[in-house]
Amino acid sequence: MTVRTMREVAPEEIPVDGGTAVQEDPGRPVFRGNGEFDYACASCGKVLASAMDSAYMTRRVRIRCGRCRTVNIAAELSVQAARRPRRMG
Ligand SMILES: [Zn+2]
Repeated sequence: MTVRTMREVAPEEIPVDGGTAVQEDPGRPVFRGNGEFDYACASCGKVLASAMDSAYMTRRVRIRCGRCRTVNIAAELSVQAARRPRRMG
């Protein structure tokens, strides 16, 4: 299994109505799939999503680490401000 380190989410990236998956049990990944990558916390290296397909790790998938409370997103996604109502550009 290849481990990919995630990155910390920038505050402006989180949509107003967006949810974040929370790792309740630091000993268990939040997601478990059938893909080829493990996704690890940017801060402490804990695996948060196991055996994931990279296509699944979109901007909507944000995971709060159960150990260090860092909110993570896949590192291959560029920092991009979330769309907010009534704001242009
Ligand atoms: Zn962590």
